[in-house]
Amino acid sequence: MENLIRSLHHVTATADGAQEDLDTYGSLLGLRLVKKTVNFDNHNVYHFYYGNEQGEPGTIWTTFPYRGWGVPVGVKGAGQITVTSFSVPGGSLDAWKQRLRAAGVEVTDVPPRFGEEAIAFSDPSGLAIELVANDRDDRPPWRAGSVDHAAAIRGLHGVTLTIASPARTIALLTDVLGFAIVGEEGARTRLAVNGDAPGHTLEIVHAPDAPRAVNGLGTVHHVALAISDAEEQLRMRAELIRLGYQVTEVRDRQYFRSIYFREPGGVLFEIATVPPGFTVDETLPCLGQDLKLPPWEEPHRAAIQQRLPPVSR
Ligand code: ZN
Repeated sequence: MENLIRSLHHVTATADGAQEDLDTYGSLLGLRLVKKTVNFDNHNVYHFYYGNEQGEPGTIWTTFPYRGWGVPVGVKGAGQITVTSFSVPGGSLDAWKQRLRAAGVEVTDVPPRFGEEAIAFSDPSGLAIELVANDRDDRPPWRAGSVDHAAAIRGLHGVTLTIASPARTIALLTDVLGFAIVGEEGARTRLAVNGDAPGHTLEIVHAPDAPRAVNGLGTVHHVALAISDAEEQLRMRAELIRLGYQVTEVRDRQYFRSIYFREPGGVLFEIATVPPGFTVDETLPCLGQDLKLPPWEEPHRAAIQQRLPPVSR
């Protein structure tokens, strides 16, 4: 099948407190809150989208802050995205360490991988986050954010998938989804799609003895890959179904259209269209300012707003 996947689209995590999430990804990490909406599958929980100015595919990190709904803390392990990595400019890691430590965050150095230095920390929900330094990312950061332009996050770098037995996962990525292996170091394989710039890569760690992952607070729920339009998405869906994958119907996520399926290693994959994007219901300067609801939830706005925890940013 020809290569239809353009890049990563977004990464979505199950988080704990809503305000801590906004403080971390907005104020501390300097991402733009590009959409404040609700989980379309549970309108009592926020869905926050962070990214660069427009929230371009490949820069988007999204969270469902589930505090108060009895969701247990998840187990990190095999069959899961265990680390989310953001791309920052080369030479900026010292500034980042200082900034994070000043905010009380415990930061550790990551041994360089594939020639790139990185630091790691946990967010307030327990999610494992990395900042990977490199000089090959020309994406514009969010310029009005709280972080100096010279250090600001450019978008997602990639994700790490922990997989017990990754052969079939790698085959799916290379044979169907258009990825190529671009590096191997020990138990780790880096794959990339449509070039190998940050935002186009993911890494698989072969972890035969890892505990089995359980979704819950502080774990990543899924990774979404970007596809150009609805027509290509239907072609990809048909191909996945032909290969025996259980793929959902196309779901309208308001800002993109999505299909979901589980890859052989257990990780939930989504394939999301690039259009229409986050300006479909707000103008570019106003992204993220108001609570936006999809048309089918608007009649319930008053009740929904009453149940959501109040937040400021
Ligand atoms: Zn998603």
